[in-house]
Amino acid sequence: MPSGATIFNDKLFEAFANASDNIYIYVCDMKSDISRWSKNTVDFFGLDSEYMEHAGERWMQKIHPDDRSEYFEDIDAVFSGRSVRHSCQYRAKSKYGDYVWLECKGSVIHDENGEPAVFAGLMTRLDGQNKYDSLTHLLVGFEMRDYDFSKGSGAVILFGIDGFRKINNTRGYIYGNKVLSVFAGVLQQLAGADDLVCRLQGDEFLIVSPGAAEADMTALYEKVRERCRNMRFSTDGVKSFSVSAGIVAYPKDGSGYDDLLSNLEHSLEYAKERKTEQAVVFCKKIADRHNRINRLHEALTRSIKNNFRGFELYFQPILDSGTKRIVECEALLRWKTPEIQDATPYEFIKILEDSGEIREVGGWVMEEALRHAAKWQRKYGDISVSFNVSYLQLTDEEFVEKLVEKAEEYQVDPKRVMIELTESCNAEDTEMLSRQFDRLRGLGFKIAMDDFGTEYASFGLLHDVNMDVLKIDQKFVRGLVKQGNKADMAIIESVVDMCGKLAIQTVAEGIETEEIQDVIRGIGVSYLQGYLYSRPVPETEFEKMLCQRGI
Ligand code: C2E
Ligand code: CA
Ligand code: CA
Repeated sequence: MPSGATIFNDKLFEAFANASDNIYIYVCDMKSDISRWSKNTVDFFGLDSEYMEHAGERWMQKIHPDDRSEYFEDIDAVFSGRSVRHSCQYRAKSKYGDYVWLECKGSVIHDENGEPAVFAGLMTRLDGQNKYDSLTHLLVGFEMRDYDFSKGSGAVILFGIDGFRKINNTRGYIYGNKVLSVFAGVLQQLAGADDLVCRLQGDEFLIVSPGAAEADMTALYEKVRERCRNMRFSTDGVKSFSVSAGIVAYPKDGSGYDDLLSNLEHSLEYAKERKTEQAVVFCKKIADRHNRINRLHEALTRSIKNNFRGFELYFQPILDSGTKRIVECEALLRWKTPEIQDATPYEFIKILEDSGEIREVGGWVMEEALRHAAKWQRKYGDISVSFNVSYLQLTDEEFVEKLVEKAEEYQVDPKRVMIELTESCNAEDTEMLSRQFDRLRGLGFKIAMDDFGTEYASFGLLHDVNMDVLKIDQKFVRGLVKQGNKADMAIIESVVDMCGKLAIQTVAEGIETEEIQDVIRGIGVSYLQGYLYSRPVPETEFEKMLCQRGI
């Protein structure tokens, strides 16, 4: 039988106590009637401390007068030995003065002499009946449903913390929760006296400001942004973070809460995509953009279901910098339907990535790339094929197996297959990435990091994962011959130098002129790619190029 000291200090208690915002736990040494309550209980109900003597009596004061007798009878049965189980529902008063519904359950453990020794259990908040969010103590978004936005005028701002998922994944949920609480505090401090502040799901927070104009919300956003930027001065251990926001004024014709919220979400999404901290006011452009995304998404899903009809691979040659011979090609995805002819790869791939359908389409790209690689290797000898892979595809543990299976089916030599990792910024789990890459490299496949030097791919990743090839982003290459290109030149030179030391080969993308080509070759980049040699072309055109180069 554990002694009082161990039941209170048990790591298990801490683990359970931190497990959920909505569950409060307690354990009581029945002989001394000393108990420990989880910290979230103390915080939310305004108790004196985690450790309490005769906690039952104190707790009774928090319970709604109408529910006290029911609670008393049930708990008395436990402490007087008539029952070993406690179970009842009642309302308890939070430190904010409102009552929340709780379901309270507990049970008794007896010592070796059969005496009641430990009483432990948990209280669950019965959600839906609660007006306030248990973590931040703000109103829950649900409460806004009944707000009448057609009465009077005002403005609403929706905040989102940039990269919150990444914060959670890299620093842990406890830290993530702290960020949310601190942020909620900032909003409450800076919002006006008549404003309603509430928390929607996750990292999104809403402020409804009756009487305000859009410009007032933009000003509020700027104040909030400054506070979050200067978080290093805070004492809560929360480092600075950045926030974006969407703003909508009301009333708008026939718009209820749902329409308002959807417009806010689109504005926030737009703000986040720009990747500069900002607040975006909802306008027609955003509405049109959203409608287009929806239209493209529906058509993409139809194409996928229709056996990938409308998808096609184009190929762009990659030349050896020394011999200027085509040694490789990059497979680039294209998509067109009778109705939609103008979607760029950047546009439709983003939609596929956001919806997760890039997994299916990526699987199709892989197979098509291997099929072409097999054909060309048989016909034209030592030609390598590279294809692009989104981070999401690599989170599939079976990715490597599928690739190996297809490479065997088409009889392609893995040494002549390269996988380019795009948008590696989303690489939250570099350990996983590194494991997948090592497996692939162990099997002979080549790995390239795409767009090196952009925010998507940088030195951090180079440190964490092993790779064969680094593709220098076009923005450095294309700027080379412009005036004041010293920085780009210095960057490329140092990247090439560093790669040389790490036995990593380099590709310069975006070579459009002879002039740039000559500079790039002078620096010692291993491979060349760009419109100077060819744009990405359909397979038959690429085959013509292979024919001309000879074997
Ligand atoms: P990326 O992987 O960086 O591909 C190179 C892009 O640069 C291609 O655009 C190519 O057409 C373009 N490009 C090549 N040389 C030049 C040049 O000299 N000048 C200029 N201005 N552009 C040049 P594209 O085909 O529009 O593809 C855009 C992006 O879409 C790709 O960038 C890649 O991130 C993504 N992507 C394409 N195919 C796939 C795919 O199958 N799967 C995934 N996940 N992403 C893909
Ligand atoms: Ca690429
Ligand atoms: Ca690239």
